[in-house]
Amino acid sequence: MKRMTCRSIGLDCDYIIEGETEEELTKNALKHAWENHAIKPNEMTSEMKAKIRDNIYAI
Ligand SMILES: [Zn+2]
Repeated sequence: MKRMTCRSIGLDCDYIIEGETEEELTKNALKHAWENHAIKPNEMTSEMKAKIRDNIYAI
């Protein structure tokens, strides 16, 4: 199980994003960003995607 907080990618939000794999977590992060922050997947900057990768931790 992998986890990261939305705050760690630079948003003012305490939502915890989880996924079985890094790939699934990234998908969930994109979904959360769209549904809660109106950030479309194609508006995610490479900096944000790098932050997602850098802030994932295993639980
Ligand atoms: Zn959020």
